[in-house]
Amino acid sequence: MSRCEELFAEARRYIPGGVNSPVRAFRSVGCAPVFATRGEGAYIWDADGRKYADYIGSWGPLILGHAYAPVTEAVCAAARGGASFGLPTEREVEMARLIAELVEGVELVRMVSSGTEAVLSALRVARGFTGRELIVKFEGCYHGHSDGMLVKAGSGLATAGRPDSAGVTAKTAAETISCRYNDVGEMKEIFAAHKGEIAAVIVEPVGANMGVVPPAPGFLESLRELTTAQGALLIFDEVITGFRLSLNCASGYFGVTPDLWTFGKIIGGGLPVGAYGGRRDVMSVVAPLGPVYQAGTLSGNPVAMAAGLAALKTLRGAPHIYKELAAKGERLRRGLAEIFKKCDIPACVQGIESLATIFFTEGPVRSYDDAKKSDTARYARYWKSMEKRGVLLAPSQFEALFISAAHSGEDIEYFLSCAEEAARGGEL
Ligand SMILES: *Cc1c(COP(=O)(O)O)cnc(C)c1O
Repeated sequence: MSRCEELFAEARRYIPGGVNSPVRAFRSVGCAPVFATRGEGAYIWDADGRKYADYIGSWGPLILGHAYAPVTEAVCAAARGGASFGLPTEREVEMARLIAELVEGVELVRMVSSGTEAVLSALRVARGFTGRELIVKFEGCYHGHSDGMLVKAGSGLATAGRPDSAGVTAKTAAETISCRYNDVGEMKEIFAAHKGEIAAVIVEPVGANMGVVPPAPGFLESLRELTTAQGALLIFDEVITGFRLSLNCASGYFGVTPDLWTFGKIIGGGLPVGAYGGRRDVMSVVAPLGPVYQAGTLSGNPVAMAAGLAALKTLRGAPHIYKELAAKGERLRRGLAEIFKKCDIPACVQGIESLATIFFTEGPVRSYDDAKKSDTARYARYWKSMEKRGVLLAPSQFEALFISAAHSGEDIEYFLSCAEEAARGGEL
């Protein structure tokens, strides 16, 4: 047994499924999880001493790579000065100002401790502000694990959703309607069927939790028009896209301004953080200003703020990082598409900037229905061939691949050479 297998066996004695978040169990690829011991730049080491080029990147936060020195130093310094006070600190002011300066349209912002919490708070704000109850989400978009977001499509168009997890009540699920991603026609039908009832539409401006599915031209613009026309709010869940697509987030990147944003991942620099914010009039319903209650013992935590500030200030001070990330992403996507084409393997490589997914199906993948056509057994074989060559990818077809500033041009070329070897060698 490898050390990773031993640890996994021990973990299963005390932790449900041996992991603290289900995707870490590596079920889709059918092997023991990689137990990480250390990370540096683009690389991580596991409990068996194996080194990997890491493209999981902690699922999004690590745009600067592992143990980025300015972040690590900020964390240590903050911890030495007291890890938590439950009182306001200057770093929270700095963080809020920085987000408001970088994201056009964010006027007030509240820190929380996870993306899940950011989303459930933003939805409460939307309901409190509009006095309406229904929320519309898109199939294949993930917004954390709050009850109202663990909902799948109902039996027919424009009908209430059904629970997508045991423990979510039918009543709660009925307050969320699920729409196909990139389907403006279905969105219009939902609005027509629920006039004056929809509090908000929440969307990942780039779908990144069903594999990467960029918005079709005009999709986000249509959502903006429809919500405005119907008096509903538009929420961009930028937990992944925020400060990853650009310094001005997806809203700045696409030039579409929602009413509310949710953030997480990158703004915590690797520590547990989330935030929600937006228009001043909307956010003014939040307590103690207004009647919508939301609170948190560790919200705006000094150590987490220090980490997030160090990361965001690095990005602001070096905007060329985004150009380089885009070039690396482009090179990787183009290279992979050529390899699979040459080898006659049905695959569709999608992505944007530093995000990518290889769907093992003929593309394009525009929605979760399309994504589900992927050959997941082939993805598992691909994952294993990359893993044994020291390239660590998300252990599931329906996830993004994250490139960080720490990945070099050589890392990308090595990735491509591994994929080519695997594809040519008949491993896939
Ligand atoms: C990761 C993620 C969340 C949930 O964030 P957590 O910090 O894991 O609770 C919400 N929305 C999107 C788009 C995400 O990718």
